[in-house]
Amino acid sequence: TLVLDGVSKQFDTGTVALEDVDLTVGAGDFVSVVGPSGCGKSTLLRLASGLDAATTGSIEVNAHSTSYVFQEATLLEWRSALKNVELVGELSGGLRSERRAKAQEALDLVGLTGFEKQHPRQLSGGMRMRVSIARALVADPDLALFDEPFGALDEITRLHMQTELQKLFRLKEFAGLFITHSVSEAVYLSTRVLVMSGRPGRIVADIPIPWSYPRPPSCATNPSSRP
Ligand code: ATP
Ligand code: MG
Repeated sequence: TLVLDGVSKQFDTGTVALEDVDLTVGAGDFVSVVGPSGCGKSTLLRLASGLDAATTGSIEVNAHSTSYVFQEATLLEWRSALKNVELVGELSGGLRSERRAKAQEALDLVGLTGFEKQHPRQLSGGMRMRVSIARALVADPDLALFDEPFGALDEITRLHMQTELQKLFRLKEFAGLFITHSVSEAVYLSTRVLVMSGRPGRIVADIPIPWSYPRPPSCATNPSSRP
């Protein structure tokens, strides 16, 4: 669970990026954030992750593990795709064979079967982003933060990844905070959509998406009933 209470952020430069943000993201919430460039979305995510500190207000994170997918893929250039994903397991210990199997499964999930041995420079931008996503998901997080993870993907891969992320979310029920520039993606994926706007950025709307998953029992047996 993630709880922000009256959070504001002013940078050293004087720029106030966020003002008075209240937000709760609980287990089973997949919350998308949309809003114009510069309204403070990435800043919100960085504060939620603890990468940066709020100027005022409080941030409470109740999670065993948090995963962050950055706006740009952040991979270790000297390690293969598989070894980049395996890194998470190495940090937390455990059996090598298990680590490898989990990393392979995550790469399969993002459609990179066959690319395990390639190094980041040998992959396209979208593929690098997918390795980053695989690395985040392999950690089995209970709080997952995504900064526009699908922005660099082609349309077909993007649709595939949306479906996979949705499946995974239904399965694991982590708390998710997901930035996107696509309103339709936000509505399709989320249990709630936040709209941010202004300078400094504020949350100007918090919209529940009632037909989203976990779906009500009446929809569960009839997938076509989803709009
Ligand atoms: P985009 O959609 O383009 O990614 P965003 O909504 O993620 O935009 P942020 O990156 O959160 O926007 O930036 C919000 C505001 O804070 C902007 O005015 C930006 O210039 C400012 N800002 C962000 N990071 C810093 C920093 N480290 N130092 C000073 N100002 C910053
Ligand atoms: Mg951003």
